[in-house]
Amino acid sequence: MAPEKGRILLHTCCGPCATTCVERLVPDYEVILFFSNSNIAPEAEYLKRLEHAGRLAQILGIAIREDVYDHRAWLEHIRGLEDEPERGKRCEKCFAFSLARTAAMAGDLRIPAFTTSLSVSRYKSSPTIFSLGRAYQAFEAIDFKKRNGYARSIELSRQYGLYRQTYCGCEFSMRP
Ligand code: SF4
Repeated sequence: MAPEKGRILLHTCCGPCATTCVERLVPDYEVILFFSNSNIAPEAEYLKRLEHAGRLAQILGIAIREDVYDHRAWLEHIRGLEDEPERGKRCEKCFAFSLARTAAMAGDLRIPAFTTSLSVSRYKSSPTIFSLGRAYQAFEAIDFKKRNGYARSIELSRQYGLYRQTYCGCEFSMRP
């Protein structure tokens, strides 16, 4: 009999990014998606991304949990950094917000490990994400953008018919 796999909570920034992560994690883990994205605005966009993360979970037959959506709390968290460029200090605080939520949920659910799909994106610095994640014992620093992870996420998203957004998430990342 194969040994039982350990559980891992995957902070899921969106369905497309999660595709690569799940593909790489399932040989070793039982994956549970955690949609925690209070950074996303407007709410209609949040709901659209949530719907497609749910679609991915359904296609792959894995569990998904949704965090409370509290964009006001997120705005408060990044206050003063609204004009920062993408990849700057606001993004660092944004990552910290989602990682803290995911660490707390992993603790509540007694899931021994967690990681994040944020490292898939070529627009996001993996070393920055990892330095924040290392504040938590349960954090697994996995660089999903390695081995063409981003290209693979596009390929799989097309295959699964997932919506791919045109901006990162918050109102400050919308291009005119
Ligand atoms: S641009 Fe993206 S990572 Fe940066 S603060 Fe906005 S939502 Fe977060």
